[in-house]
Amino acid sequence: MPDNAPDDRYDLVVVGSANADLVIGVERRPAPGETVLGSDLAVHPGGKGANQSLAAARLGARTALLARVGDDGHGRLLLETQRAAGVDTDGVLVGGAPTGVALITVDPSGDNSIVVSPGANGRLTPEDVRASAPLLAAARVVSVQLEIPLETLAETVRGRGPDTRLVLNPSPPAPLPDEVLAACDPLVVNEHEARFLLGEGAGAAPADWAHALLARGPRSVVITLGAEGALVADGRTGSLDHLVSPKVHAVDTTGAGDAFTAALAWRLGRGDGLRAAAAYAVRVGAAAVMARGAQESFPTPAEVDAL
Ligand code: ATP
Repeated sequence: MPDNAPDDRYDLVVVGSANADLVIGVERRPAPGETVLGSDLAVHPGGKGANQSLAAARLGARTALLARVGDDGHGRLLLETQRAAGVDTDGVLVGGAPTGVALITVDPSGDNSIVVSPGANGRLTPEDVRASAPLLAAARVVSVQLEIPLETLAETVRGRGPDTRLVLNPSPPAPLPDEVLAACDPLVVNEHEARFLLGEGAGAAPADWAHALLARGPRSVVITLGAEGALVADGRTGSLDHLVSPKVHAVDTTGAGDAFTAALAWRLGRGDGLRAAAAYAVRVGAAAVMARGAQESFPTPAEVDAL
């Protein structure tokens, strides 16, 4: 590798989903067989992968996204919003199926019903990942989630550079192969994902979950705890730290986990230690709940500093 290679690398390459969130407000959500009238349709760029890459770029990270969208209007919307935020989209493949969509109805109490069509996300293949080997090799950190096929995730784990750190948020949760768990540094989970992975006998306290998850193989584990902040367990040092979130007025928590994970991954890529990176990430997560929406709510560095 040339001497200047480290400066040319991406802080973060996100391998994951890109969806269009189609949202309609309704007085009440329809019962089976029923039709209800709703508000005008709102279309928002989303998907965990696209959320993370955009959140990191907004914070100033050199970020690339490896994903697949359809050759359609939703795909173009996703590409445009990523590019406008400064994300390198050369790794976003186009075609093969319609762009993934989430059909969301929200009632006045905020309760929602969601149907997800993975579409092109489900067509992001291990072969696509192999074809993007130079992108993965150029990443200080690779961040992945589970809205893409599990075999594609596994190929990402195998194909990353020898000194590329892997951050995994297993959402939506699914059983994970040992080779994937062993590569995580850290595994990032919320309470629901921790309980899913641990199953019966998960224990009552987040500290129990952290120890039990570490025993599955990850080098480190971060458990996000909503308004309570996050728990950071480092298997190398045996340390366990609770990082408290700033007290904020929460308006909408959508995407908070994605903003948190993106910030964590970016700061790790910059060379921060795990605890310092997570301390920054809890502030980014808190800033993200202060505004409505997912990508719209992701903060700039100035907004994080203001907390
Ligand atoms: P989501 O699925 O809503 O995107 P999540 O369940 O994956 O989120 P959370 O644990 O809810 O993840 O939140 C991630 C981080 O965001 C927390 O660790 C915390 O830093 C911040 N956060 C979330 N909710 C609040 C809140 N009410 N007040 C302050 N910070 C919050």
